[in-house]
Parts: sequence; C-alpha cells; structure tokens
Amino acid sequence: MHYLSTRGQTRPHTFSEAVEAGLAPDGGLFLPESLPDLSGKLGAWASLSYPELAAEFFQVFAPEISAQEWRAMTAQAYAKFDSPDVAPLRKITEKTYVLELFHGPTLAFKDFALQLLGLLYKRQTRLSGKHLAVLGATSGDTGSAAIHGCMGQEGITIFILYPDGRVAPLQERQMACTGAANVFAIPVPGTFDDAQRVVKEIFGDTAFAQGINLSAVNSINIARVLAQCVYYLWAWMKLPEAARATAEFVVPTGNFGNVMAGWLAQQMGMKCGGFRVATNQNDILYRFFTTGEYRQGEVMPSYAPSMDIQAASNFERYLYFVLGRDPARVREVMARMKAGEAVTLPQQPSSFRASRMSDEIIPKVIAQMWQDWQYVLDPHTACAFTDMAQDRVSVVLATASPAKFPEVVTQATGAEPTHPMLEALKSKALSTFPLPATAEAVKAFIVEKMG
Ligand SMILES: *Cc1c(COP(=O)(O)O)cnc(C)c1O
Repeated sequence: MHYLSTRGQTRPHTFSEAVEAGLAPDGGLFLPESLPDLSGKLGAWASLSYPELAAEFFQVFAPEISAQEWRAMTAQAYAKFDSPDVAPLRKITEKTYVLELFHGPTLAFKDFALQLLGLLYKRQTRLSGKHLAVLGATSGDTGSAAIHGCMGQEGITIFILYPDGRVAPLQERQMACTGAANVFAIPVPGTFDDAQRVVKEIFGDTAFAQGINLSAVNSINIARVLAQCVYYLWAWMKLPEAARATAEFVVPTGNFGNVMAGWLAQQMGMKCGGFRVATNQNDILYRFFTTGEYRQGEVMPSYAPSMDIQAASNFERYLYFVLGRDPARVREVMARMKAGEAVTLPQQPSSFRASRMSDEIIPKVIAQMWQDWQYVLDPHTACAFTDMAQDRVSVVLATASPAKFPEVVTQATGAEPTHPMLEALKSKALSTFPLPATAEAVKAFIVEKMG
C-alpha cells in the first residue's frame, strides 16, 4: 500500500514515510493510493476489542509494520482510556446514540489519533537512531493531545506554541502541568494565527528543520485520519443490524478531519446512511454543503473554540475525490481558495448533509438535553443536536468531555461538570516557557533544549 499526494507531484510514499512527512512535499495531503474494500472483513472484526480492531485495520494500511507490532502499539495507545470500551456507544433514545470519544487522557477525540502517533514517532526514532523534535501550534485540543502522546517517550522532545491567554485555562493546564522533562508549552503573544505563522516559518527553513530532525504535529497527518476511521467502524458494528444501512453519523466539524475519516470508512464498505457536518457559527462547511460554494469568512470566537475555523485543512482530501482524483484540478482549486476566492464546486449526489448552530443556541441545547435526558453535552457536541433525522438512527460523535468547558456547561445546567483528571491538574505547578512570536526566538529555544 502506497500513499499519494492530492497534488500529484510527490513520489509514492510508504505509510511510515507519509507519517513522518506529515504534509506531502508538494504541499498536498497524503491519501492511500486506492481504498480497500473492507466489507468482507467486518463480520469477523465485530467481536474484537477496540485495540484489536485498530490493529487489524492498520495492518491493511501499513503492512510493513508487523501484526505483532501493531497489536502492541494499539494496546498501549488505548490503555490510558478510562472506559473499558475505549469509545462507548450510548443509547439516549430509540433513534439517538452518542459515541463518546472523550475517554482519553486529554478528554477529547484527538487522543484517538495522537496517542498512536506518539508511538509511531517513538518507533521511528528507534529505527533511525535520531532524536526527534516535534513542533506544533495549537488553539487548545490538538496541542494537549499531542503532548500527552509524546510525554515521557524516549527520543522525543515536543514544543507546542499557543496564543497567550487565548486557550481555555484547563487546556493550558493539560499542556503545562505534565511534569515531563521532554515537554515545552510555549505561550506567545497574539492569536492562534500568529503561533501558526511562527511554526510555518520554522518549517520553511528546511536546513534548520532537517538539521534538528523536526517533525510537524498538525491535523493533516494521514495516521490521524486513519486512526479515526476505526471508531466509525466500531460504532457501526455496535448498532442494531437493522439500523446500520440508514444510520446517519453526526459530526461536530472544524477542520473536516473527523468527518473525512467517516466518509473514507463508508467508501471502504461501511454501509451507512451518510453524515451530517455540524458546524458552529463559523459555518463555511455548512454553506458549502448547502450551496456548493466555498467562501472563507472571518473567524468568530464561539463557545466551541475547536471548531472556530474558516479554512478546513482536511477539506482538500475530500476535494480530491470530488474533482475526480485529478491532482491538476486540485492544485488549481487550492490556489484559488488560497487567494481568498470563492469557489463553486460541481454538485454531486453526496453522502453529506449539514447543519449550523449559533452561539445563542448552544447553552440552550445543553440545558435541554440535561433536562430531558440527564445527559450533559460539551459545547462542541451540542452543535450536533439540531435538525435530527426523524426517520432513521443518528449516531452523534461526542468530541469532548463537558468537564473541559465548565463555564458554559455550568451556566446551562446549574451544576459544574468535573473530572478527576482535571481536578488533579488544578493543584499542579504550571510550567510554561513564554517566548516572543518570532521564528528566531523559537529556533534558539529549540536548539538550546535539544542540546
Ligand atoms: C478538533 C475538535 C473538533 C473538530 O474536529 P475536526 O477534525 O477539526 O473537524 C470538534 N470538537 C472538538 C472538541 C475538537 O477538539
């Protein structure tokens, strides 16, 4: 199995090479050269535990890593989850299920991919004998999940930049209270875009990046998308058989990484009814799926900050399929999007519906779900609870624990959500490494810490 770039100007990569590169050298995103048909395997996979299922799945996509190694890695990656099911599927009503993806160490779905990615990095440093410096910018959840995937791993040092004062206090604690010597949480002045710009500039200095063996942690690594396919298959196999073919997955969406994984699983033989892309007031994807036009706007901060996005970085993977897997057309459309042009794409019979939710509604939905079903939603998951399909089963992906967002949840339900993991953080010392938002300052810091 090889991996090709959506922009078609990169040689085929193995899984390990594609994981190591993150972004393809031509600026595109990696995808498997062809999508295997897994439908014949699903029967046998239905009785597996979550880590076993993940190991079987990844053997299809990375046969160069042995079955035994995959089983060891997935067992370790999901051992830290606080539910025996890893991704428990809860039935709320006859027609509504919630797939809880927040039982990992940072209480958000990004742990599914980043726990595994940390182990893949570790494997790579063992094979190459080279120490790895992992660098990324975050608005909250990706950074903390990446840190928890890498902390304490031999041969890896991780540096995460975030906008000072603009991530949730608990998210900052998750990054800065690990006590691990190989973790550096770096607040910089400005917004997420400033932090992201510094990271891009550092990677732009290829001599520096190669010299220090720098790897990017961001939302576009193919290993992340594949790791996320697994919980769709898992949930689908746990549904009553009669519900599967029409079931709609409802996915709180920002960068389109999560829902992309579901759509890939469908293309590989998971016969479901489709997907609903659920956005907050930053509704570029809602507008795209309802009108066909992709037009960027200004980001408006919301109660669901991990979905405050106007340029969905994983959307290019979907574009590739929409444009008939033609890399020349992908390059052309991406260039127009980058220039800020509104792009209208060929409408086609699609598996997607879309919904949006404004900030006024989010607390009301949290309150209503608590009142009706004694079920507490986080503000991201709340965005899913609108425009529910009436005639078939919905599976809502719960992307974060309500305990990560105590202010809005307390306001809505009258009770403060807590989690022992977050409570434990409150008494720990915060260890941050503030730096100016310049590539020079951050490079000098990395050099110093890498010795
Ligand atoms: C990252 C994140 C999202 C958005 O996921 P995408 O893959 O970017 O669409 C939604 N909810 C939470 C809690 C997140 O952390």
